[in-house]
Amino acid sequence: MLKNKTALITGSTSGIGLGIAKALAAKGANIVLNGFGDTETPQKEIAALGAKVAYHGADMSKPAEIEAMMAFAAEKFGQVDILVNNAGIQHVARIEDFPIEKWDAIMAINLSSAFHATRLALPSMQKANWGRIINVASVHGLVASAEKSAYVAAKHAVVGLTKVTALENATSGITCNAICPGWVLTPLVQKQVDAKAATMGLSDQDAKKQLLSEKEPSLQFTTPEELGELAVFFCSAAGNNVRGVAWNMDGGWTAQ
Ligand code: NAD
Repeated sequence: MLKNKTALITGSTSGIGLGIAKALAAKGANIVLNGFGDTETPQKEIAALGAKVAYHGADMSKPAEIEAMMAFAAEKFGQVDILVNNAGIQHVARIEDFPIEKWDAIMAINLSSAFHATRLALPSMQKANWGRIINVASVHGLVASAEKSAYVAAKHAVVGLTKVTALENATSGITCNAICPGWVLTPLVQKQVDAKAATMGLSDQDAKKQLLSEKEPSLQFTTPEELGELAVFFCSAAGNNVRGVAWNMDGGWTAQ
């Protein structure tokens, strides 16, 4: 279905980004990975699916490095047809205690990076009259939680950016949509589980149950594989006229 298409997924060495990369690779897309940590294993996992894979280590908080990454992808595979803006970090603290550098980092990585990658991807998508931009927002793009001011502000803004991108390209073959997951058990969330276990004196298992029961009626984590399949749908022909949506996969979190 995605043969001869190239997908660049930011923050894809781990968690949701890697799940989306694998789902797109399984449909035949060439994959450009990005992110920190172990960069070899994810490349091997993508190659094992029969896809062509490349990696660029751009720091998504740095616009010049994002430009270099987009140029690298174009040089490697011709152009980026599918852009998944996924890189993101979290910091949890009350506003009066929120470190300024954490605020700035979350705005740069969770929000501005999506603007930069999108502005750089659009010209070649417009030339081809086909493109898919998928922004990994969050339920926190739609509702708030205490102690997540930067994250909630950035994710609400990502949903806004999604709508503008969709509207500016509405008469073309380029769509832009957001995915809004609830809890997904990735390293980003495990840190929050660990903090809960420590402050409440709970086991890892009980801290997970506690986390889910506070917000997610299904009491289940969404998986990176399930989110990957939603991304595949956005890239399919059936997704041609899905434009500017913020689609929850949140176990009922925002239905309450
Ligand atoms: P994760 O920590 O597993 O993965 C984050 C990825 O981003 C990693 O590959 C990491 O190396 C990369 N990254 C971090 N900072 C970077 C930077 N400066 N430059 C380049 N790459 C960088 O986290 P995840 O849970 O998979 O999160 C992925 C996205 O999904 C984030 O935008 C997050 O806000 C969003 N999200 C996560 C959840 C959840 O419950 N896990 C829920 C909703 C939304």
